[in-house]
Amino acid sequence: MGTIKREYDYGKFIERYMYEHAHTMFVLVAETNDALYKVLYANTLAIDYFSGNVLMSGKHFFREFWKEIEHEINNMDELSKKRTEIEVLVNDELKLFELNLQKNEQEEREPVIFLELCERRDLIVERKNLSELESKYELVIDHNLDPIIAINKKGEILNTNPAIYPAFGYRKKELVNKSILKFIEIDEIERLNSMIIEGFQGESIELAEFNILHKRNIYLPIHVKVLPVLVDGEVAELHLIIRDLSKYYEYNEKFLFLSYRDQLTGLLNRKALKKDFVENRAVAIKNEQKVSIVHIGLDRFKLINDALGYNSADEILKSIGKRLKDICSSMSRVYRNGGDEFIIVLENHSIEKTEEIAQLVLGEFGNPFYFNNQEYFISASIGISIFPDDGENIEKLLRKSEQAMFYVKENGRSHYRFYAKEMKSLISNEVLMESHLRRAIELDEFKVYYQPQVDLKTGYVSSFEALLRWNNRKFGFVSPGQFIKIAEDSGLIHRIGDWVLDQVCKQLRQWEDKNYREVSIAVNISPKQFRMAGFAKSVEGNILKYEIRPSSLEVEITESSLANMQETLSTLKELKKIGVGISVDDFGTGYSSLSYLKQYPIDIIKIDQSFIRDIEFDEKNEAIAKTIINLAHNLGMEVIAEGVEKELQAGILLNANCQKAQGFLYSKALPVEEIVEKYMT
Ligand code: C2E
Ligand code: CA
Ligand code: CA
Repeated sequence: MGTIKREYDYGKFIERYMYEHAHTMFVLVAETNDALYKVLYANTLAIDYFSGNVLMSGKHFFREFWKEIEHEINNMDELSKKRTEIEVLVNDELKLFELNLQKNEQEEREPVIFLELCERRDLIVERKNLSELESKYELVIDHNLDPIIAINKKGEILNTNPAIYPAFGYRKKELVNKSILKFIEIDEIERLNSMIIEGFQGESIELAEFNILHKRNIYLPIHVKVLPVLVDGEVAELHLIIRDLSKYYEYNEKFLFLSYRDQLTGLLNRKALKKDFVENRAVAIKNEQKVSIVHIGLDRFKLINDALGYNSADEILKSIGKRLKDICSSMSRVYRNGGDEFIIVLENHSIEKTEEIAQLVLGEFGNPFYFNNQEYFISASIGISIFPDDGENIEKLLRKSEQAMFYVKENGRSHYRFYAKEMKSLISNEVLMESHLRRAIELDEFKVYYQPQVDLKTGYVSSFEALLRWNNRKFGFVSPGQFIKIAEDSGLIHRIGDWVLDQVCKQLRQWEDKNYREVSIAVNISPKQFRMAGFAKSVEGNILKYEIRPSSLEVEITESSLANMQETLSTLKELKKIGVGISVDDFGTGYSSLSYLKQYPIDIIKIDQSFIRDIEFDEKNEAIAKTIINLAHNLGMEVIAEGVEKELQAGILLNANCQKAQGFLYSKALPVEEIVEKYMT
């Protein structure tokens, strides 16, 4: 009748009109029984905004967005209203929205949720301008093409930038609040940890070779640059700027070649083994085949090392590598596992084929190796583990093949055995420890600690003794009393000794660079190392390499190094000429007498702990200590008392004119960070 129907509600019309023309998105959703949310209504703006993301047609929000909103709804608690901000990736761009939520519980019907969404471009801008620092920081992080991870002191991830996703497959949410260590290979945790410590001391550091876990569960090689972020003069967090090297490697054949090759033998290395195994494993699973890991350890190679020196021994390792390579067919590959170990991975394993390879290898060792026209007979022990029978991953398989190899070594050597459970208990700790020690440098398990030497008169500290610490992933902290002996027996002491010397010189260089006060550091030198031809030259080499003051370095030798007069004297003279200090450790426990010492150019005598221990009760010890001090002074040498634990002992020593003391009374050996904090600044 020309009149407007009564049902038509103007109020609703206006309301709808407003919703349709508002600058805010309005969406009404219902919570259905199956906890899915159905969109009941959305205004034009919302439909347009989400058009590409199937808002309405599927009657759902697009997933990324909905996950965020759902999270907010779930966290609504009792409140029926909520106002918050959410960040969502829309078409790969991070957007910020202001979100108003209103939940209406209806009787006998599912609750209805009313969403009001407003994109806050202004807020993003506003935020960025909050402070100049903050804005710079955001810009640096978010717009950097390299992935960046921000971490705190504990290694927890605080923030990441969008570039992390294309590179490593993680969204920010998957990383934030987790420990960075979760994404790093076990082998590398120590290295990362010490990097974090250094970073928080304000150092910016670069780590060249590192592996990070991609979401697809493979490790990618990366280069990390660590930048400390200072707020009010303190390191608030670290930014790890990451460069994914895998692409680089792909493009750069040569680089690839180097990074997965053992430098000495040119064979593939352990890293390549790990990488390749991912593929070996996949192929084996697909074809229901097995893979064998043939672990070859040279027998008593340390004897060769000792006899020839490790440069020449390296030549022999090269020819061994070559022979092994010649044995390997297309179905097997040979790797150098570091040190005197090689590994052959045999695809599509059968017992027969694996045994055939093992026999071939043993056969090769039946023929001598040549160096400088000399024949050397070397044998090898072989342990074998099988995928998947002995383990699912390469770490486990290597552990077992290694165990089998040790078993062979302990049971006559020069044959092969497949891994069996019983082997485990039969291998002595020492043999196992030696093999771990062999890789300690490579795995970055060593650290040099420093024990201060205190001037008894003034309390002033101007020198330290470098003491090596080994934190192994299997054995934990092993005392040098234990591992130095193994290192000496196995010939590893040369490499380890060189490493310590290098570290100490590097440290001295760093301290000089920082203009810290002048100090000296004493390095323990094992008799074997000291007697090695060219020892003085290698000391000189380090001094020149780091351009340190020669007098800031002191070599600490034991009395047993002093036997063999002629050679000792010439080495000591050489060292003196270079200008390094020379001290005699554990004095009084060996055979040398002071008159004997007169002929050597020695600067410092260290009185052994055993004389200091009861010096306050034991008159004999007191007399010995005093005698040593007096005679040493008469010979123009300085004296350091070791193992001083009590004030009383220090008092006696001071009275006897002993210059310096070292011991728990003052401090145990400490990591470099603490030394810097306590003594250098
Ligand atoms: P050392 O050269 O006689 O070193 C002194 C040892 O006494 C250190 O043990 C030190 O931590 C410990 N010590 C220091 N003050 C006290 C004290 O007040 N009371 C007691 N009871 N002990 C104290 P550490 O670090 O376990 O080293 C043991 C030995 O291992 C060293 O004896 C040294 O012979 C050897 N060593 C350590 N680092 C190296 C190294 O880099 N190269 C070589 N070749 N040998 C090393
Ligand atoms: Ca010492
Ligand atoms: Ca000592």
